[in-house]
Amino acid sequence: MAFVIIAAAVIAVGAVLWYIGTKRTSSRKRELDESPYQLGLDALIAGNSDSAIEHLTRAVRNNPRNVDAYIKLGNILRERGQVKQATQIHRELLVKRKLPHAARNEIIKSLARDLGSAGRWREVLEHLATLPRAERSDPSVLAMTRDAYESAGDLDKAAQAHKDLLKAGALEGQPSAGVYRAHLGLVAFNRGDTRRAKTEFQAAVKEDPDAGLAYVYLGDIAVREEDTERALAYWMKLISEKPECAHLVFERLEKAYFEVGDFGRMMGIYEELVASSPSNVRALTGLSRMLERKGALDEALRIAREAVKHEGDTFEGHRQLIEILMRHNRYEEAARAAETLLAGLVNHHKEHTCPRCEAAFNGYSWRCDSCRAWVNEC
Ligand SMILES: [Zn+2]
Repeated sequence: MAFVIIAAAVIAVGAVLWYIGTKRTSSRKRELDESPYQLGLDALIAGNSDSAIEHLTRAVRNNPRNVDAYIKLGNILRERGQVKQATQIHRELLVKRKLPHAARNEIIKSLARDLGSAGRWREVLEHLATLPRAERSDPSVLAMTRDAYESAGDLDKAAQAHKDLLKAGALEGQPSAGVYRAHLGLVAFNRGDTRRAKTEFQAAVKEDPDAGLAYVYLGDIAVREEDTERALAYWMKLISEKPECAHLVFERLEKAYFEVGDFGRMMGIYEELVASSPSNVRALTGLSRMLERKGALDEALRIAREAVKHEGDTFEGHRQLIEILMRHNRYEEAARAAETLLAGLVNHHKEHTCPRCEAAFNGYSWRCDSCRAWVNEC
């Protein structure tokens, strides 16, 4: 009997202790959940940067040793465009002694991003070079290194970093080696280094058919070198290899064929394209334009109406039709065509813009200058 009583007492005491214990951990857990740091992280995940800044500022005030809260605070400030403050926070952290390795690496990467946002590429490279080797071969660091070399004008090292990046694997949306070469060609071209641009473009089109856009610029370079025939050859190559991108060179071809006095050839190109893809709106409008110039008005209008049937939200067919009618004083018909256009007009007019950040593009490229997203225009 005594044994049963003792056993019951032991169980009861155990139960009470267990209850107190769980109550304590749960209250500690609640405390942790509601700490400014945790609230800051939650706000960050929810995308509320105002509230994240508020909580994280409180977190570092309560506990100045919370390095992660500082790092994140700096990162939010950078993303909000307050690059100076971000740089200052990350720099000050780096001066601290006795930082755990992981934290130090995180701070260096954050600081490199701050400096990159300020266009201080050489400093970005200097800081990234202080990372341990394993960190330097991390894909996100390699991408940062590549972009820094590229922006600093060191194209060879940029190309090498891109190769390392592709070798390291898994970083989504990165261009192939060939496409990156073409992109470097455009970087050189925009800096006025035509020779380098040419080398990169020529290698790129051999390496990867996806770099087809390079033909556009190879042609442009040939025009600068007053070699129209070669320019025409490059642009025709784009049409034969990538007919879906033919429209990128229509305007250039028309101008060049006009200069060499072979406008008939241009008509032939449009006819061939329309024959192989009858719903190619840009080829149809081009053909219609040629026919009008030739004086074949009825045929020009027929083709323009055909273009209207297939036009997307750029309304190129309608534009062509209305323009021909206006030029030939057929105002009533033009007004009717404008009326149907307006009726079908949805609120947006698609311009040549970045699919991610919608910044307007100036010319064709592989990368958005604004958000640095990779785009495939051909
Ligand atoms: Zn963009």
